[in-house]
Amino acid sequence: AKVYNIDNWGADLFSINKKGNICVHPSSNSKNSIDLRVLVDDLIKRKIKPPILLRFMDVLQGRIASINRVFKNAIHENEYPAKYQTFYPIKVNQQRQVVEAIASYGKRYNIGLEVGSKPELVAGISISTGNGLPIICNGYKDGEYIETVLYATKIGYDITIVVEKLFELEKIITLSKKTGIRPKLGIRVKLSSKGTGKWATSGGEDAKFGLRMSEIMAAIRMLEEEGMLECVTLLHSHIGSQITKIDKIKTALIEAARIYTEMRKLGVGIEYLDIGGGLGVDYDGSKSSYFSSVNYTVEEYANDVIYQIKNICEEAGVACPNIISESGRATVAHYSVLVTNVLNTNTQGLMPDYETILEEMEKPAPTVRKLLDIYKSIDRYSLREDYHDTLQLINEAVSLFNLGYLTLQDRAIAEWLYARIIKKINSIVEKIKPIPEELQNFQLALRQTYFANFSLFQSIPDSWAIDQLFPIMPIQRLNQRPDVIASIADITCDSDGEITSFVGEHGRAKFLPLHKIRKDEDYYIGFFLIGAYQEILGDLHNLFGDTNAVHITFNKKTGYMIDTVINGDATWETLKYVQYKGPEILKRVREHLEKDVARRKVSIEESSHFIELLDRTLLGYTYLGE
Ligand code: PLP
Repeated sequence: AKVYNIDNWGADLFSINKKGNICVHPSSNSKNSIDLRVLVDDLIKRKIKPPILLRFMDVLQGRIASINRVFKNAIHENEYPAKYQTFYPIKVNQQRQVVEAIASYGKRYNIGLEVGSKPELVAGISISTGNGLPIICNGYKDGEYIETVLYATKIGYDITIVVEKLFELEKIITLSKKTGIRPKLGIRVKLSSKGTGKWATSGGEDAKFGLRMSEIMAAIRMLEEEGMLECVTLLHSHIGSQITKIDKIKTALIEAARIYTEMRKLGVGIEYLDIGGGLGVDYDGSKSSYFSSVNYTVEEYANDVIYQIKNICEEAGVACPNIISESGRATVAHYSVLVTNVLNTNTQGLMPDYETILEEMEKPAPTVRKLLDIYKSIDRYSLREDYHDTLQLINEAVSLFNLGYLTLQDRAIAEWLYARIIKKINSIVEKIKPIPEELQNFQLALRQTYFANFSLFQSIPDSWAIDQLFPIMPIQRLNQRPDVIASIADITCDSDGEITSFVGEHGRAKFLPLHKIRKDEDYYIGFFLIGAYQEILGDLHNLFGDTNAVHITFNKKTGYMIDTVINGDATWETLKYVQYKGPEILKRVREHLEKDVARRKVSIEESSHFIELLDRTLLGYTYLGE
């Protein structure tokens, strides 16, 4: 387990049981757990095929509860005189069932929703209908967006529209006057403080969104002139997602709180200070400020938020605001795990017995003979020289082959010997401390590609797009020492669809330790902490569609319950995105085949079997089956 660093990134939600399987706990340190391998075997018995996205709804609830608990404690400890509220930014994962679950569980914490576009607005309104869930509207807005929000206010939704740009405010004022509806307004400020990491440009002077100080003054004047200043109830700021350093967060908080106090002094009745997102997730367990990690805990974050805001407000003699955070990543990252099968590439029994072939060879080619000598004689003292010679000999084998001096069989044996020598060197290197510098990356020469039944572009796009680390590990055999070092390739026809960076025991590793897959063994790997952003950013590369998704809850009696099964895309569905229609394809092929049948080029049976195969493929899963 150590090699996967699970104890450091797992947030006490994942552990390994006596059978050597990964278990998921409903909340940190809970004694209850679900054995992932048993669960996957049960799902396969239910004919739910991998890749399967497992959504652990208790983990989601646990995260909502723990973020709220941590803030409650911080409020208590700092004697903060106002409240905290999370607004879940639905951009992080908009799946209806997920947002519904967040809304229903979060109700007790007064959770709200943050939306950033017209489609998200409609989704937010749909979820909030009938339960009064408050909504905050960010993003660029046109007249239709603004008018919808105004009427939503009129008919009783608790909805705040955040002004991101000055020209937006003009539109809001015009439409408010036209409709006679007074909106609840927020103002987003452009802080000069920047975040760190990949999304640092969401903050700072060059940020895409928010009003500069001069524009805030203009906005106050415009609103005052229209008698609408009291519509402003919220001040918003956001310096980016996954802020890796706590000191950046502190600086931004101080600036936002200062603006709040100054605006209050100017008579703007702001009740809420919305500090946006930024609360990061420690994906690799390194607790560092590297962008797949964060150098602080949720507790530290909450304490800083409460402390800094209180401090600034007290200094200024201004009432403390209610605090809102839009912590989406930290809410949903942990609750989903993608599990898929590794294609069993065990070639045992298929390869010729090169050992015997070599023995029986009367006169092996000189290159082969030299490699064989190295293989037999190599030891720790000859290591370096033999390593260099081996590299030279394998290159020589290729050149000789290309020139026609080596047969295919000779080259095959040379290749086989090379692999054996490298393995032998590795077993020697492992015992030498310190490892000679040039042999340190040596293990990479042994790295094998394991093919997993998934699309990187669909399921963990950030791994490809921004080289983000996600914990990846086998879900079984964790009581057995991994004996293979591997990279993980997906099944798209794209060479970018390969993962060569992993969460390792000592930070980023260039390979993943896995087990040699036995013949007829089903071997599964899990991709963890993928609940935030990955599902919606995923694309249809090679037309691999959404994976099957299953919602699971813990159950004391039965271990777990399957709440919902959401079928992944069928082939006809991904084809439809690119304007192919299943029935039309079948019709076209059938008509063509009928002509061939008439000409006796194709038999009726062949034709109908082909149509049947196409039909089955269209209705089936886009990923690999048997
Ligand atoms: N709020 C706003 C306005 C955002 O743009 C974002 C995403 O960048 C978030 C909240 C979510 O932030 P996080 O990913 O840190 O949860």
